[in-house]
Amino acid sequence: MQKYFIDKKQDQWILTKEQEHQILHVMRAAKKDQFLFIYDGAFYQVEIDCLSPLHFKTIEKKEAKTELPVDITLLYCLPKGNKLDFVLQKATELGVKNIVLVESSRVITKIKKEDLPHKLERYRKIIMEAAEQCGRAYLPKIDALISFEKIDHYLSDLNFIAYEQETENFLSKKLLKNALSYSILIGPEGGFSSEEVLLAKQKGFQSVSLGKRILRSETAVLYSLSLLSNFAEEKEYEHL
Ligand code: SAM
Repeated sequence: MQKYFIDKKQDQWILTKEQEHQILHVMRAAKKDQFLFIYDGAFYQVEIDCLSPLHFKTIEKKEAKTELPVDITLLYCLPKGNKLDFVLQKATELGVKNIVLVESSRVITKIKKEDLPHKLERYRKIIMEAAEQCGRAYLPKIDALISFEKIDHYLSDLNFIAYEQETENFLSKKLLKNALSYSILIGPEGGFSSEEVLLAKQKGFQSVSLGKRILRSETAVLYSLSLLSNFAEEKEYEHL
């Protein structure tokens, strides 16, 4: 069943023009067609009861069980090219709650201040499509592009900087069952300077290794988010 993140005011479903167009003209939906609307962390099974104006009746509200039991914030240093699109999609599928773009010293791609609102709009579309596809109950937030110095504005219970030169602390050894939130900082293709790693440690981030190989930045995101989400979710299968 096609899923949509929909706004709701009082008891009315408020679709965007794009969503209406998609349902009426792309999917050519008919009366009695059913959809799953996602709103405020719950799923609503709805059915078209009028096509013009488009109106839905709610059949059933279902609790959503697709969110991670922990909040993960990904602090991601801007990558080259269009890797960011891929990372936004995968981070959404892997359950991330917040994505913060970071301009560290070795970032090559720059985003002009005046271009940021438009780019964030496009990033939010990628996130929404990924969230609808994988059945998220909440949309991950992406609101900011920050300088490296501001990373401590996004602290969690446990905070990690994935450092390619780290040889001691392996990420999985640093996870705690009672942590309710994690922040993970991933560097750009050029990696982190030693000054940045020192500053991150002063700001409460632990330097961690993701293994003995140098991963591409997008692979490092996949690796670390998979590990964090798996560690968090396996608790939910322990009793099975
Ligand atoms: N230019 C760096 C070098 O050659 O050493 C590599 C940077 S790597 C392409 C991009 C980012 O991915 C790093 O800054 C780090 O955040 C993460 N990363 C990649 N491999 C890692 C590893 N083995 N341990 C920890 N972090 C890693």
